[in-house]
Amino acid sequence: MALLQISEPGQSPDPHQRRIAVGIDLGTTHSLVAAVRNGAAECLPDAQGRVILPSAVRYSLDAQGRTRRAIGFEALAAQAEDPLNTVVSVKRFMGRRLADLPDAGKLPYQFVDQPGMVSVKTVAGEKSPVEVSAEILASLRQRAEDTFNDDLFGAVITVPAYFDDAQRQATKDAAQMAGLNVLRLLNEPTAAAIAYGLDNGAEGLYAIYDLGGGTFDISLLQLSRGVFEVVATGGDSALGGDDLDHVLAEAAMVEAGLQAVTPQDKRTVLVAARRAKEKLSTDGSVHLSCALSGGMLSVKVTRERLNELAKPLIDKTLAAVKRVLRDAKVKPDEVKGVVMVGGSTRTPAVRDAVGGFFGQPPLTDLNPDEVVALGAAIQANQLAGNNVQGELLLLDVLPLSLGLETMGGLVERIIPRNTPIPSARAQDFTTFKDGQTALAVHVVQGEREQVEHCRSLARFELRGIPPMAAGAARIRVSFQVDADGLLSVFAKEQISGVEASVIVKPSYGLSDDQVAHMLREGFTTAAEDMKDRALREARVEAERMLEATRTALAADGDLLSAEQRTHIDALMTQIGQRCDRGDLEALEAATKALAEGTEAFAAERMNRSIRQALAGRSLDQI
Ligand code: ADP
Ligand code: MG
Repeated sequence: MALLQISEPGQSPDPHQRRIAVGIDLGTTHSLVAAVRNGAAECLPDAQGRVILPSAVRYSLDAQGRTRRAIGFEALAAQAEDPLNTVVSVKRFMGRRLADLPDAGKLPYQFVDQPGMVSVKTVAGEKSPVEVSAEILASLRQRAEDTFNDDLFGAVITVPAYFDDAQRQATKDAAQMAGLNVLRLLNEPTAAAIAYGLDNGAEGLYAIYDLGGGTFDISLLQLSRGVFEVVATGGDSALGGDDLDHVLAEAAMVEAGLQAVTPQDKRTVLVAARRAKEKLSTDGSVHLSCALSGGMLSVKVTRERLNELAKPLIDKTLAAVKRVLRDAKVKPDEVKGVVMVGGSTRTPAVRDAVGGFFGQPPLTDLNPDEVVALGAAIQANQLAGNNVQGELLLLDVLPLSLGLETMGGLVERIIPRNTPIPSARAQDFTTFKDGQTALAVHVVQGEREQVEHCRSLARFELRGIPPMAAGAARIRVSFQVDADGLLSVFAKEQISGVEASVIVKPSYGLSDDQVAHMLREGFTTAAEDMKDRALREARVEAERMLEATRTALAADGDLLSAEQRTHIDALMTQIGQRCDRGDLEALEAATKALAEGTEAFAAERMNRSIRQALAGRSLDQI
C-alpha cells in the first residue's frame, strides 16, 4: 500500500539517518531478500552471486554430537542422500496440525503432532516449522547485514493472501526467532503489485497470477486510494512447474523407448527435463539428454511439443482463474492489469494463455522470481521511514479506522484506516434531544459499523452545552494523530465555546494480529453490517420523530380534536411496534406515515406561534 510521502521541510537528507529495511519472500521452494539501494529495489546476492536461497534446511550432528545445519543449496544437495533430516517446503507446515496435511504420509519426514502445529523429528531433535523457517530467515538476515555492513532496522515478510491467523503468527514467530524486527507481514500478490508500482496507478481491479514450482495462486486485488485490498483468492496448492517437469520427463522416456528405471534415474531425468523446459522459454528447440543407468537418454524437444504437454496444466490454472472471477462477480475485461509472478510464468505458452484470457498482455518486465521480494523491499523502505531518494519521512499509516459512536450504537468514521500519520480531521455533530446539555463522546477503533464490534479507546463527556432545540447545537469533534501514533480528541461546542478532550494511544495493547483480525472481520462482514446500519439508522430516525411528536403534543396537544389525537397516537404506537422488529421497510414506512400524519398539526402549531408572536411575544420565548 502506498504511503503518502511527507518529507519534512528544511531537513536535508542525512545518509546516516537512513534505516536499513529489507523485504523477504519466504517461499515454498525459494526465498529471497531484497532492499532499496540507490533508489531502486534489488535482490541481494550471496557470496557466490546467487539471489535465490532454496528454502531447505538439513540438520546433522558433528563428531562431538553438536547440531549442524546446512541451509539453501548445500541442504538441497544433501536431500537425496539424507531426505529424513533435510526439510524442504516447510512453508506448507507453518501453523498446521497433522490433520491439516492430507499428504503428510507421502513425505519422508517423521511428523510429531504437537498442540500448535506439527514438528519434524530429525537427528538433531524435534524441529518445528517455525524453527526451520527461522534458519532460512536468519540466513537471509545475515546476507543483508553483510551486504550493508550494518544492523537491520526491520523487515517486511510476505505471506500468501490466503494464510490464516495461525500461519501468519507462525511466520512472525519465525522472524522473531531469527532476530528480525517485523515491520509488517505483506500479502504476496500485494507485494507483486507494489513492485510494478500499480499502487501509484489507476484505481481498479488487478489480477496476480502466481505459478511457481509446486503451487498456483490467483488473487484479485482492488486498488482504491492507493491501498490494495484482497478481493478474492484461489488456486491449487499442488499445481506448478514441477508437474510440467514430470510430463516432459515421461514423454521423453516414452519417445526414447525407455522403461521406468531406478529412483535415481527418475531424479536424473526430472532434473534434465526441468533444464530443457526452462531453456525452451527462450529457445525454439533443445536436446534433453542425460546419462541413465541403462545408457544415454537424448531426445530433441521443440517448444511446440512442450506447449502441447503444458496445455492441460495451463487450462487447469485458467479454470481456477475463472472460478475466482466468478466468485467475485468480475468479468475478465474488468481487470485493469495482470501481474505475472513465479518462475513458471516465464514459459511463453503460459504468458500467451493468460494474455488471451484477459484480453491484454500481462506485466512481465520484472523477474517473476524476484517480484514479490522487490515489492516487499519497497514497502519495508517506506515503513522504515526512508523515501525513494533516501530522505527521512514521517512514517506509517493508521492500521485501523478511528471514529465516534453516534446514536443507535453506530460508528462514524473520522479518520479512515491507512491514512498516513500525522493526520487531523474534524467533523460536526449535534444533539439528539431538545435541551440536551451534555454529549457523551465515545472514541472507537475498527472497521465495523457497530460500536460493539469495534474496540473502545476512550470515553469523555462534553458538559455545559447551552440548552437548545435538538439538532441546533454544533459540536466540532477533532481527531489528531501525531507522528508517534498518539491520538488526541477534542470536542468543542461552537456557540458557547465549552470544550473537553482526551488523549489515547490507539495501538496500545493491540498486536498486529489483532489488527489483521479486525480488518478481516471488517471485510467479511461489510455487507451484513451495512444492512444492520441501515436498520439502526432508521430506528434513530424513528426515535427522533417520536421524540419531536411527544414534545409537540405536550406543548400544543390542545390544538387537536380527540379524533386527530387518537390517529396520531396510533401512528406513534405503530412505530414503537415496528422498531422492535427487524423490518427496515416497514419501519421507514411507519416513520413516514407519522411525518405525514402530523403535517396538519405542525401547520396549526406554526399558525399559533405566529399569532403569539404578533401578540407581542418574542420568538425565542415560544
Ligand atoms: P515457488 O513460488 O514455488 O517457490 P518459483 O516461483 O521459484 O517457485 O518457481 C519455480 C518454478 O519455475 C520451477 O518449476 C522452475 O522450473 C520454473 N522456472 C524457472 N525458470 C524458468 C524458465 N526460464 N522457464 C520456465 N519455467 C521456469
Ligand atoms: Mg513463489
